[in-house]
Amino acid sequence: MRTLEIAVLAGDGIGPEVIAEGVRVLREVERLVPGDRYSLHEFSVGAGEFLRSGDALPPPTLDRIAECDAVLLGAMGLPDVRSARGVELAPQLDLREHFDLYAGIRPIFLFHVDDSPLKAHRQTGIDMVIVRESTEGLFFARKGASSLADPEARDVMRISRHTSERLFRAAFRLASTRRKHVTLVDKSNVLPSMAYFRGIFNEIAREFPEVATDRIYVDAAALHLVQRPESFDVMVTENMFGDILSDLAAGLVGGMGMAPSADIGDAFAVFQPSHGTAPSIAGQGKANPVATILSVAMMLDWFGEGGRAASIRSAVRRVFCNPQMRTVEMGGTLSTRAMTGAVLEAMTTV
Ligand code: ATP
Repeated sequence: MRTLEIAVLAGDGIGPEVIAEGVRVLREVERLVPGDRYSLHEFSVGAGEFLRSGDALPPPTLDRIAECDAVLLGAMGLPDVRSARGVELAPQLDLREHFDLYAGIRPIFLFHVDDSPLKAHRQTGIDMVIVRESTEGLFFARKGASSLADPEARDVMRISRHTSERLFRAAFRLASTRRKHVTLVDKSNVLPSMAYFRGIFNEIAREFPEVATDRIYVDAAALHLVQRPESFDVMVTENMFGDILSDLAAGLVGGMGMAPSADIGDAFAVFQPSHGTAPSIAGQGKANPVATILSVAMMLDWFGEGGRAASIRSAVRRVFCNPQMRTVEMGGTLSTRAMTGAVLEAMTTV
């Protein structure tokens, strides 16, 4: 039996609220299902830390995080707390780049037909994973600067062979465990970097002959996600496209509070809900903790504790069978804590 060291970065806005619930579930599954022990280490990172110390991710904290086995993260950044360059603080992006967490894994799963706004597809179900490149792409430009005094501003999209090859292999390996279908989303009809991206995808696809492939442009991907979401198994794309499409996809299955994520590299990983800090609902008990709870399940899968992960997912599935059990933004009445309570109860009544 191992003791796994987990860095817990609650962050800002609703981050601390949802992380508290994720930790409750983690402790319960540790108690109920035999397996590893978890030692949790909390660190202050984010806009709040920036206001306190002048650095959203202080180097000594980063060193201590690196000593852990994985990170559980809430959400970071606040609209009014900005860097000298005028952009929001985003230490979660710094972590992805620092630890080379190139594969952003974002499962999109519809637990109950009533939670999708898409009436036409209520019978077919939605079960896909968006694999979002998370260290380069158009976000590569984020550390640049712009000035209104200049006549123009430019952002450069970086697509490297090394990262793209690893990203595509991660997508194909994931698809091999699912319905064996990968859709590449790009804009290769317009951008040379995207033609390069597609060329590398075609090379890597030959390594996985058992996996079927499609290639679509990002604008068509937005359309098809709404018209026929059931047709997607694994979708792989660059950083910015993945950022946008994963919010759209979350909207198909009940909103941001239902969308977990994992940022995975070759040796380290960060697990966090796909949503941001949602300042407008912070501190009101309205945040849906399910995205964080499902992110905890992804962490357990990554640790090799599939049984514990399955126990969390099946508890969430059972809670969502009952249409009364919904948080406020899904049209229900449950508070953040009450939703977790329902999941915990479902875990103990297997
Ligand atoms: P970011 O750019 O950091 O992803 P954002 O400002 O674009 O953040 P979010 O903070 O994710 O967006 O919020 C988008 C919308 O989803 C808001 O209306 C917010 O209230 C809602 N939302 C986000 N997370 C949750 C949650 N866990 N529960 C309920 N509603 C949420």
